Amino acid sequence: MGWNCQECGQPLQLDRSLEEADQHTLGIAQATVKEALGQWNTVSSETRQTHLNALSLPSSVHQAIQKQLQHANSTPETLSASSDKQQYQTRLFQTLSTETFAANHSSALRHPLCEDCTKQVLDRSTQEIEIARKERNALREFEDDCTSEGHESARMQKRRSLRKEVQDIASSTQQVQSELLACDSAQETLQQELNAVRQEAESFANTHAEFWIAFNQQTSELHQMQSELHRNQAQAAVLCEMLNHLEQANAYLDVFDIGQDERGIATINGWHLGRLSTAHVSTAGEQIDWPEINAAWGQTAFLLTVLSRKLACEFTQYQIHPCGPLSAVERLGADHAKYELYGTNEWQIGRLFHSRRFDQAMVGTLACAKQLCERACDMDPALDLPYTIQKDTIGGASIRLQFNHPDTWSRATLSLLITLRMLLHWAIDQNFKP
Ligand SMILES: [Zn+2]
Repeated sequence: MGWNCQECGQPLQLDRSLEEADQHTLGIAQATVKEALGQWNTVSSETRQTHLNALSLPSSVHQAIQKQLQHANSTPETLSASSDKQQYQTRLFQTLSTETFAANHSSALRHPLCEDCTKQVLDRSTQEIEIARKERNALREFEDDCTSEGHESARMQKRRSLRKEVQDIASSTQQVQSELLACDSAQETLQQELNAVRQEAESFANTHAEFWIAFNQQTSELHQMQSELHRNQAQAAVLCEMLNHLEQANAYLDVFDIGQDERGIATINGWHLGRLSTAHVSTAGEQIDWPEINAAWGQTAFLLTVLSRKLACEFTQYQIHPCGPLSAVERLGADHAKYELYGTNEWQIGRLFHSRRFDQAMVGTLACAKQLCERACDMDPALDLPYTIQKDTIGGASIRLQFNHPDTWSRATLSLLITLRMLLHWAIDQNFKP
């Protein structure tokens, strides 16, 4: 019968010592196993159990070891009855094998083994032994620490130290927990404040948006109002300018346009009131015609009437009858008479008579003008009129045409019209109602 390796299954060639196995060889092997197990049995069962527990072996392994121990303690079986080598080898391998142990532990040994498997098993056993030795040393040190009397006080001190350290740690843990609670409370407060700030920011953002909407509306309205204001201001400026123009453009000044031409002859509404001296007349058409002079006297008579109405001044000596170029002056009183305020080129017939009546009419006109001046000066003492009227003269020039120089007469009529123009301006400034 051949043998195979119990690990890898390779066929084995047994050593000569095993080939020649007999009762003696079996006895040596059994004795060796018994001796080894006997050393293990010298340790108390409690210590063995403690060491096995420290090795953290499974309970099935413990049971296997216990059985192996019991089996080793039993009386070695005698195989003297058998002389077959094959049987000796079988019993020898059974003795060496821990069959019961192997049935419960995969790493247990079963014999025979080849050299390679033996080497692997030895290596594995060496590592396990080394691990077991280290654990044993650690346990021994622990046991020494536990049993040593010299270290009792140190252990007590260490225990107190550890207890104090535990108390400190518990105290610091409690403190940290209280701080943690305080932090949680602070965090909650901060979270509430943050929420309030967020709500406030949101409210502010809404207010901000509403403000800008209102601001834009107000700005738009402001621009519209400004443009309307500018339009109204422009319109007001135009109206003011028109008003000033209208205020300055007085109807009386338009109706009675008094001036003088380049020759110094007075004009009213474009009609000359004066005569050129014969020395200054080069052509027959240059002399001022009487119809023009009569029309100018008619305008002057009308102006006197208007001024008397504006100043509420009723003439006492004369009455003016404005009638265009055929106006007249009526003398009031006992010596009542009416004089023509116009002349004619055809003075040849009754020239002296007519000239005297014309002169009387002009003197009456001058008297009316004097009464108006006196009335105006009474109303406004500050009024300063440039010409003085005395009897038939104004500014020293006689208003009479007969026996008078044309230049003197023209100067007198110019003075009269200038005086009447000043009265008219003054009356307009006084804002008299017409
Ligand atoms: Zn093998």
